[in-house]
Amino acid sequence: MARIVMKFGGTSMAGSERIRRVAGIVKRQQEAGHEVAVVVSAMAGETDRLVNFCREANALYDPAEYDVVVASGEQVTSGLLALTLQAMGCKARSWLGWQVPIHTDDAHASARIEDIDADALLASMAAGEIAVIPGFQGVSPQGRVTTLGRGGSDTSAVAVAAAVKADRCDIYTDVDGVYTTDPRIVAKARKLPLVTYEEMLELASVGSKVLQTRSVSLAMKEKVRVQVLSSFIDESAPAADTIPGTLIVSDEELEGSDMERQLITGIAADKNEAKITLTGIADRPGAVASIFGPLADSNINVDMIIQNISHDSGKTDVTFTVPKADLPRAQAMIEELKSTIDFEGLIADSNVAKISVVGVGMRSHAGVAATMFKTLADRGINIIAISTSEIKVSVLIDTDETELAVRVLHTVYGLDAAA
Ligand code: ASP
Ligand code: MG
Repeated sequence: MARIVMKFGGTSMAGSERIRRVAGIVKRQQEAGHEVAVVVSAMAGETDRLVNFCREANALYDPAEYDVVVASGEQVTSGLLALTLQAMGCKARSWLGWQVPIHTDDAHASARIEDIDADALLASMAAGEIAVIPGFQGVSPQGRVTTLGRGGSDTSAVAVAAAVKADRCDIYTDVDGVYTTDPRIVAKARKLPLVTYEEMLELASVGSKVLQTRSVSLAMKEKVRVQVLSSFIDESAPAADTIPGTLIVSDEELEGSDMERQLITGIAADKNEAKITLTGIADRPGAVASIFGPLADSNINVDMIIQNISHDSGKTDVTFTVPKADLPRAQAMIEELKSTIDFEGLIADSNVAKISVVGVGMRSHAGVAATMFKTLADRGINIIAISTSEIKVSVLIDTDETELAVRVLHTVYGLDAAA
């Protein structure tokens, strides 16, 4: 017997028929002899609809009341799933955030889970009852409803799994696992049986939006084994216990497995960044600080940065990237500080894409970056900026070349599936 936390996303919960399918999957998991808790999202589109109601009611809405409104989407689906399970003859009940309770801080609309009291849940699960828990919500120290930020149900599921010491947290979604790259770009992309927490973090933060990034950090910290798998399956599908999806594990577990490791695990493309170049900046101490200090103060996340060497004139150029959504704000702010920063021109460009190759294998191998640069050069793809971490190399290129870049890199690192 194992203890399993199962999580179902919004597309899996959208409507009675899909909830029945989910209930079938949950029932089968319990019939395999496991103790089961289920964490659910609101129906697809529901949270957006509720957010809109808040905006219409009061443009300057109180985040505490916003949480009361948006948390309702998950309240509905948790009750519906419990009802559906009961209709199938299972013992099941819902546990709202405040009933568990899932304690969070009071940062409404982006609260952090502080502690989950698992006693009642454990007793109910041990008695053969399926615990159905709405994701995304908790309760503040003041006893008010909180929500965790968009996509937060993944984090709820991992936190519940950690609290009940689950053997596995299965995240059921509309894809059947984590792929070497986006299968819509590269038909030869392969599903990965195993990926490490760190790789998943890098892949999640560079645009492969399978899991909320925070949930992966939490899983890594709490050592929760997470499987990503599809909920769009029928009764003949292989059991979740045979790990048909992608299992996210620690480095140690990966090394202990007999999986043959590729040097590179995956390639991600991210079109959500924009580039700013400041020309003719005085090359003196403090010049860069005068740019990035104010950006940081207004919470604009700078990712890649390059500073050119000084021209004879004692001036230099600095290029960096910011999230596309923050480009207008960043631009306005820098123009305003023009005399303090002391630059000649500002060039903004949102026609860029960040391509990243990710893999723990590169820790022990030289030449990953060189292969990447040469492969792109051979195709005439110009690299605008570069950044690296221990397990990732990213380059910034023109958006139009995204698909080509991903495809040639997928091939050169040996990731293409056999035909
Ligand atoms: N329903 C919430 C959202 O759409 C939480 C989630 O589904 O993860 O952000
Ligand atoms: Mg989600």
